[in-house]
Amino acid sequence: MQKVFLKTFGCRTNIYDSQIMAQNLIDFQLVDDETQADIVVVNSCTVTNSADSSARSYISKLERSGKKVVLAGCGAMSKGESLFQDERVFGVFGHSEKKNINTLLKSSQRFFQLGDLTSLDESIVEDFSAKTKAFIKIQEGCDFNCSYCIIPSVRGRARSQDEEKILSQVQKLASNGYGEFVLTGTNIGSYGKDKKSSIATLLKRISMINGVKRIRLGSLEPVQLDDAFMELLDESWLEKHLHIALQHTSEEMLQIMRRRNALSRDLTLFEKISEKGFALGTDFIVGHPGESQRLWDEGLENFKRFPITHLHAFTYSKREGTHATTLKDEVNGKIAKERLKVLEEIVEKNNFLFRQKHNHDLLVLVEEKKGDYQVGYDQYFNKVHIDSMLDLEKEWVVIQNSEVKKEGTYASIHQ
Ligand code: SF4
Repeated sequence: MQKVFLKTFGCRTNIYDSQIMAQNLIDFQLVDDETQADIVVVNSCTVTNSADSSARSYISKLERSGKKVVLAGCGAMSKGESLFQDERVFGVFGHSEKKNINTLLKSSQRFFQLGDLTSLDESIVEDFSAKTKAFIKIQEGCDFNCSYCIIPSVRGRARSQDEEKILSQVQKLASNGYGEFVLTGTNIGSYGKDKKSSIATLLKRISMINGVKRIRLGSLEPVQLDDAFMELLDESWLEKHLHIALQHTSEEMLQIMRRRNALSRDLTLFEKISEKGFALGTDFIVGHPGESQRLWDEGLENFKRFPITHLHAFTYSKREGTHATTLKDEVNGKIAKERLKVLEEIVEKNNFLFRQKHNHDLLVLVEEKKGDYQVGYDQYFNKVHIDSMLDLEKEWVVIQNSEVKKEGTYASIHQ
C-alpha cells in the first residue's frame, strides 16, 4: 500500500479540509512523517505572497527528495497551473475535488483538476483523531471584497452547508463523546443568507443537541452581528469569547481597505459584548497602503478604547490580484513592524488584566500534556496550565482558583 503524507498550510478551514481528504483516502496508508511517504499532498494557503512562497519552497524541498507531489488547497487555484506546467508537481486538484482524492492519487497519469468554486463538501468528518474539540465547517466562500484579500477568488462566493447535514454531523460527534464544537468557514457570519436561515438560528439548533457543552465560533464580521445574534450572548453554551475582525480602527483606513464595518458602530458593539463578560479578539492589519502617520495615530488612539483581549495582527503583505496592490502609498516594512508591536503590547496588558479579573470558575477542556502541565482553554479562550497527578486529558474541569501570571494562567488539581 502506498503511503501518503498530508501537509497542511494555513487556516482552520484547511485543517478541516485535510481531515476530509484523510477520510477519503481508502487505498492508501496515511503517515505522519513525510520522510516515509511515497506521495505528499500539499494542502496549501495563498493568503499572501509569502504564504505562496512557503508552499513553493516546501515543494522544492520535496522535489529534491524525489517524492511524488500533489498540490491542493487555495494555492492550487492561484499557482497550480504554473507549477503543473513546469512539471514541479505531479497533480493539482481544487477544493471541490477533495472527495475524489483516492481516485486521483491512484492515477498513473498526471492530473489537473481545479473543479468549481460553487460546490460544498459532501463528506462530513465524524472523528478528529487526537483532538478534543470538533471542527464543523458550516459554510465556504465570501461575498465581501476587502482590498487586500484574495480569498473570494480562491474560495468562491459565500454558500452555506445544509442545516440538517450540520446538525446530523454534530449529533454523531456528540454521541462519539465530543462536547466542544468549533464552527468554521471562510466567513461564518454570512451563514444562512442563501438558505433563509442565519448563524443565530443555527447556533440555537446546535445547542439543543444532547452532549453539546460549548460552542466556539471562528472569526465574525462586525456587520453580521444582528439583534438575533446579540440575544444569544447570555446563553451558557456559547464560549465567552468572540473573535470579531475589525482589521483597523481608523475610519478612513477602513474605507481604503474596502471594509464594511465602521468605527463608531464597532466600538459600541465591542463595549456591549464586553459588558456581558466576554473576552474579545480581533484581526488587525498594520501597514496597509495608505496608512499614513496621521491615520495610524488616529487608529491607535481609537484602538486603545476597544476592550480587546486577544489579537491576531499582521503586517500587510502583498497579494497579487488584489486591489491593494494597485495603491501607491506603501508603508515601510520596519515602520509596520513597530506599529504591530505597539498593538500587541496593548492587548497583552488588556489580556493580563482580564485574566486577573476572571480568575475563578474557569471551565477548562484539557487538551494535552505539555512539559509539567496539562493544558487547555477556558471559556474566555485563555490557556490554563494545570499541575495535577491525575490524567485529565479530554476532561472538563472547573478551576476555582488560579494564579495569573503575565505569561499564562496556572492552577493545580490534587485530590
Ligand atoms: S471578509 Fe474580507 S478579509 Fe474576510 S475573507 Fe472576505 S474578503 Fe477576505
